Amino acid sequence: MSTDFPFDPATAIHDETIAARVPWSRVLKQGEVLHLIDLEGQQAVDALFYRADHFEERYSAQDTLRAQNSAYVTTGTKLLSNEGNVLATVIADSCGRHDTSAGACSCEANTVRFGHHTRFMHACRENFTLELGKYGMSKRDIVSNVNFFMNVPIEPSGELAIVDGISAPGGSVTLKADMDVLVVFSNCPQVNNPCNGFNPSPVRVLIWAAA
Ligand SMILES: [Zn+2]
Repeated sequence: MSTDFPFDPATAIHDETIAARVPWSRVLKQGEVLHLIDLEGQQAVDALFYRADHFEERYSAQDTLRAQNSAYVTTGTKLLSNEGNVLATVIADSCGRHDTSAGACSCEANTVRFGHHTRFMHACRENFTLELGKYGMSKRDIVSNVNFFMNVPIEPSGELAIVDGISAPGGSVTLKADMDVLVVFSNCPQVNNPCNGFNPSPVRVLIWAAA
């Protein structure tokens, strides 16, 4: 954690390590701050956001990118909903950029990209389905997501490349909730491409109360 980071872990209202490969969720109250730490480096964390009192309003990658006129998520990015409201804002970022174009890995996509033998490997869509089920949602509620710590450069040709992560051990991104928002993470289990350094690893979440 950089020395100018204004939040002290000792004052966090929540401090949890998310094991490798598993989902996680929590409702952030408006004004709460969530700090996500890539403990070992090069670990993608797929993220979805829903308005806490009305899940039909949810993260929109398209509106977020259009509004900020940039292809990546970083400090200052306002994560917009499909209603054009700000769900949360990225207030700090040691990584520099995060993807919101490449989507979440799935068993189906794995078979297309890596071969049928990967059919039974765990994937982010399964994590999202499991976690959303706790809130009465299902597969149909999975929309285009944010991939924190995932390096997906957009080539001059317009193609997406999934390459080695640029997130160093201890790298972090910090969000402030602009409304009461349900945050759903999948600590990505992918082992067939470099997004997790071929070694899924735990991440840490710290939350502070609204100022
Ligand atoms: Zn994944």
